[in-house]
Amino acid sequence: MSLLNETHDPTLSSWVASANLPGTDFPIQNLPFAVFRRKDSEEPFRGGVAIGDKVLDIAALCRKNILDGDAQRTAVAASASTLNNFMALGHTAWSSLRLALSRLLREDAKQQAITAQCLLELEDVEVALPAHIGDYTDFYTSIHHATNVGKLFRPDNPLLPNYRWVPIGYHGRASSIVLSGHDVHRPRGQLMPPGAESPTLAPSKRLDFELELGIFVGTGNLLGTSIPMADAEQHVFGVCLLNDWSARDIQGWEYQPLGPFLSKSFATSISPWIVTLEALAPYRLPFTRDANEPQPLPYLDGEHNRALGAFDIQLKVTLETPAMREANVPPHTICQTNYKHAYWTLAQLITHHTVNGCNLQAGDLLGSGTLSGPESHQLAALLEITHGGKVPLALPNGEQRIFLEDGDQVTLRGWCAIKGAARIGFGECTGTVFS
Ligand code: MN
Repeated sequence: MSLLNETHDPTLSSWVASANLPGTDFPIQNLPFAVFRRKDSEEPFRGGVAIGDKVLDIAALCRKNILDGDAQRTAVAASASTLNNFMALGHTAWSSLRLALSRLLREDAKQQAITAQCLLELEDVEVALPAHIGDYTDFYTSIHHATNVGKLFRPDNPLLPNYRWVPIGYHGRASSIVLSGHDVHRPRGQLMPPGAESPTLAPSKRLDFELELGIFVGTGNLLGTSIPMADAEQHVFGVCLLNDWSARDIQGWEYQPLGPFLSKSFATSISPWIVTLEALAPYRLPFTRDANEPQPLPYLDGEHNRALGAFDIQLKVTLETPAMREANVPPHTICQTNYKHAYWTLAQLITHHTVNGCNLQAGDLLGSGTLSGPESHQLAALLEITHGGKVPLALPNGEQRIFLEDGDQVTLRGWCAIKGAARIGFGECTGTVFS
C-alpha cells in the first residue's frame, strides 16, 4: 500500500504566496502542528498549522464551519490548548484533517476568502509546548555515537554487547522540556575531576548539546499490552527537533550503575512545530542492517519496517558565540548529519518500549538519541567533536571551544529534500546558555 496521497503531490501550490517560495520550511506539503496565541495577548493557546510565513488558526477555522464531518470533529480536538486529545484520535483522524487543510490552502480553493480570515503572521504569534508531555524517554539509536562515547568512557570496551540487540533508553524528565528560544541555565552538580579525592558541587564545566529528533506518541496502549511492529507507526503522531543538553562532567561521575540523571534533567529543548509522520511519507527509506551485524529479534522485525522504516531527514547544528554575535559573524555549522544513520527505527523504539507491557500515552515524547553519523562532520555532540575535550573545535573568528560557554547559542535545523517531492522543514530548535 502506498503511503503517498494527494497531499504529498509536489506540484501542489498554495494561495498563501510565501508557502511557494523555494527553501520555505512550511510548503503546503508539510502542514506541521503547534500550539500558539497572539504575542503578548491573554488569548487562550490553541492549535495551529504553519503555512509559509503564516499560521492557520484551527480554532478560528472551526468557528467558520466549512469543514465536513470527520475533519470538523478532528479540528475541534486540535483547537484545544494542548494537542493531546487530537493526538489520541489516531491516524485516520489526523489524516482527514490534513487532507481538508491541504484542500483549503490550495491555489484553487473555493473557500479561500473565509480561510484567509483564519491566518496570522508567524512573527506575530508565540508558541507553547504542543502537548502535555506525561513522560519523556531518551533513546540511544546511533551506533556511531554510542561507539564514540563508549571509547571515551571505556576505552577498553567501547560498545557494550547489549547495544546490537536492545534499543537502549532511559526515562528522562518531562517537566524540564522547554521550547526553542528558552535560555538554558548552566547546571550545578557533583563533579569528580580526574585525580581528585572527593567530588565538589560546582557549575558544570563540560556543558554539551545533543542533536536528536523528538517523536511524539499519538494513540497510546493499555497497561499490560504491547504494540507489535506492524502497528507501531500508527501510534506515532509526528516528529520535532530535540536538543538533549548534557553536562558531561556530572554525567561521568553519576552515570554508573543506573544511567544519566541530573546531567540531563536540567533542560531539554524542542522545536515547536510537529511534522506529522504522514508528511514524512515521501522521504522514507528501507531499514537495513548489515549482514555482519546481529539481525533484530523477531519482535523488532517487520516487512514494512524493512521496506520503509527509515527516514531521510537532513540535520544540521550551528554554534554562535557572543563574540561572533557582536562581530556579525554568521553562526558556524559544526555538524551535518542524517536520521538515516540511526541503528533502530522509530517503529522499533515504540515496539521495544511497550514489549514489557508499559503503556505509552498521547503526548509522550521519545528522544531518538544523538544522531551522529559515521563521518567526522556528522558528529552530533561536542563530546565527540572534541574527542572528549582533548581537541578544541576551531571557529572561523579564531575562537575555540571545548564545551559550551556562557552566551553560546546552539541551533538545530532539519529538513527533507529529495528528487520528486517537495522540500519540507522542521523550523529550528535554538537555545542560549547562561549562568
Ligand atoms: Mn540523549
